[in-house]
Amino acid sequence: MKFRIGLGFDLHRLGPGSYLILGGVQIPHGQGFIAHSDGDVLCHAVVDALLGAAGLGNIGERFPDTDPRYRGMSSLKFLAETTGLLSQNGFRIENIDSNILAERPKLLPHFPSMREKISSTIGIPAEGISIKAKTMEGIGIIGVEEAIAAQAVALISFE
Ligand code: MG
Repeated sequence: MKFRIGLGFDLHRLGPGSYLILGGVQIPHGQGFIAHSDGDVLCHAVVDALLGAAGLGNIGERFPDTDPRYRGMSSLKFLAETTGLLSQNGFRIENIDSNILAERPKLLPHFPSMREKISSTIGIPAEGISIKAKTMEGIGIIGVEEAIAAQAVALISFE
């Protein structure tokens, strides 16, 4: 068996709203993402990590934000389509590690449901999906709550 790794990053600005979608989970919050899709930075970073590992391009090419089909779409759908694409190309997802960079809200209580959503979408056990969160200590665009970002790495295997 051979392995490849991929790296993904995403950031979305925050604006008026009442909830965030992160890892496919709706989290009540005093702001929302400004985005063409649901703005789920975690799913977007994971998609880019997977596409990068497989050498299959990036999220902007695969799911262009100029395409009306993707307006307001659940980013779990991007993740599901990416998983299918990897599978068609002979790749298996081994594990994913990720960080969410957000000043607020506290995300720890939501990790189990995020892992469950991602796990069932990409078809690997939840043990293979790690989610962590960091604050930016109150500085920079994330620290002053103008944006939330995520980074992810993925390991994939093939024969
Ligand atoms: Mg994005």
